[in-house]
Parts: sequence; C-alpha cells; structure tokens
Amino acid sequence: MQKIVTESFVSCSLENDKTSTGNDELRHTLTKEIVMTTTRPRILDCSVESCSYNKTKSCGAAAVTIGYAQTCTTFIPLTIKGGLKDASTFVGACQKADCTHNSGLECTAEAIRVGAHTADCLSYEAR
Ligand code: SF4
Repeated sequence: MQKIVTESFVSCSLENDKTSTGNDELRHTLTKEIVMTTTRPRILDCSVESCSYNKTKSCGAAAVTIGYAQTCTTFIPLTIKGGLKDASTFVGACQKADCTHNSGLECTAEAIRVGAHTADCLSYEAR
C-alpha cells in the first residue's frame, strides 16, 4: 500500500496562519488524517452503472463500505447521479471477516474491484 504524506503542504498551510496556537498538535492531527486517507484500499473500477455514484464504470463516492454479504452497501440506484467530480474512492470499512484481505473488519488489499449486478466486491477471497 502506498503512503503519501504531504508534510510540506501541512507546514506551508500552518505558516500562513500566524495567529493560530497549538500548531504542533494541529500538524499531528492533519498528518494523521492524511496518512489514513492515503493508505486506504482504492476502488480500481466499478461496473455497476445503475448505481447513482457510478461515473463511467468508476465510483464517484468518497468512500464505500463493503457489507457482510460481500456487496457494496453504498450502492443506491436512484434517478439522480451523485458523488464527487474527481473522486479517489477508497474502502472505508469491510464487514467480510472471512475474506483473506480482511483484518479487524478493515480491508488490507492494495485496491479492489466492484462489479456484478448487486455491486459485489470482486476482490473477495475466502480464507
Ligand atoms: S477484498 Fe475482501 S476485505 Fe477487501 S473489500 Fe473486498 S471483501 Fe472486503
């Protein structure tokens, strides 16, 4: 899993705010959040075009949850489209404890694929 820590960006942002106090604590919190969001498993692609978050076979949600039935619980087939303009969607949580990539109900895979009619995690591998 790739870790990208943009410490210089955090430092630069804090230096511009001369009135703030507790910068070290804020820097620690921001860096922790950045590491968390950049080390999560990405969604390589999603073929479920009936989902409101789907954008040309990719997911537009900020994050998804894979449920215990192996389906993406973020899936929703509404008549409107949603999601972010430029999403780098990641797996926020996964309830498939019997998957070889699952550790403590979190996905440890580098990336996953989602597909089939019911938005299954196609990267699931039984232990
Ligand atoms: S690969 Fe396994 S652990 Fe990761 S999201 Fe899919 S089912 Fe969950």
